[in-house]
Amino acid sequence: MKIKEIVSYIEEIAPISYQESYDNSGLQIGKMDTEVDSALLTVDITEEVIDEAILKNIKLIISHHPLIFGGVKRINGANFVERIIIKAIKNDIGIYSAHTNIDNVENGINAKICEKLELQNCKILVPRDNELLKLVTFVPISHLEMVKEAIFNTGAGHIGKYDCCSFSAEGTGTFRAQNDANPFVGKIGEIHHEKESKLETIIPRFLKNKVINALLKVHPYEEVAYDIFPLENKLSDVGAGMIGELKEPIEEIKFFNHLKKTFNLSIIRHTELSGKKIKKIAVCGGSGSSFLKNAIAAKADIFITGDFKYHQFFDAEGKIIIADVGHYESEQFSVELFNDILKKNIPNFALYLSEIKTNPINYY
Ligand SMILES: [Zn+2]
Repeated sequence: MKIKEIVSYIEEIAPISYQESYDNSGLQIGKMDTEVDSALLTVDITEEVIDEAILKNIKLIISHHPLIFGGVKRINGANFVERIIIKAIKNDIGIYSAHTNIDNVENGINAKICEKLELQNCKILVPRDNELLKLVTFVPISHLEMVKEAIFNTGAGHIGKYDCCSFSAEGTGTFRAQNDANPFVGKIGEIHHEKESKLETIIPRFLKNKVINALLKVHPYEEVAYDIFPLENKLSDVGAGMIGELKEPIEEIKFFNHLKKTFNLSIIRHTELSGKKIKKIAVCGGSGSSFLKNAIAAKADIFITGDFKYHQFFDAEGKIIIADVGHYESEQFSVELFNDILKKNIPNFALYLSEIKTNPINYY
């Protein structure tokens, strides 16, 4: 199976365009057309992980954290990134990473954390804006359904739990074909009036080219009139963190024990307990401290993430409990998530969960 096909199942859920601007998700080493028969899944890529791939003869590593992040200026083996690059290329091993793109989607890392904590009514904590576009086009009435079907099939018109969303109204379009035109209706040199539908729908920005191509392919006119407008609506299924609720409120210590057990933690760094029960829970895999204000605004009882700094703990101000479970610990289930996605789509493809614990932080 080609790497391209394998990663397409991940990108179906987590389009690369949803990654943060500082990120470097995607295929880092190798070619999309390379055939592989297995993949090794890991949170991080360390030298032990690449050795594991070599030992098991696995030609594709899928990681959450990108190997190449801040740029590489030379590859002479001076540090672990350079040594891994050399080993990967020498051994024909491809390296693919899905990082903030899989952090930022409804069925990504944070949904996995919510699932592990058995939360309900989960939604994105900080929905992202500037991701939606409005598409308006004008279609002869006879072709309206055909055009709608084509653009819906490429993902246009998706709002929350509904798809095929659009609005159309009838009106009259006018045009005059020039000498070298080949009009679908009307005569050269004469102004033509045609009964048309004005069709409106929305598209996520990353699907723009795909939807426009589909529109141009099925629309009968030689020159298709269409408008694309940026929208300020928030996209409810894309953004940072998630918030959900426990079935029943439970005591703080009881919840901490549940958290410790579920995430296999030896320690939780947390702010002062309030003595109140926990019901509403905000989570953010990785370094989520910048979303503390969103968790407070959403009235979460507790915010679970990693990488909180000393002074940031003060910002809880008694309004929320901060529970820092560790960066690696919060994202350890990314491996299980990759496994779930790929197993579902390509059940016969061999997937290996790395046996290396890549967390660089140890607790004594
Ligand atoms: Zn991370």
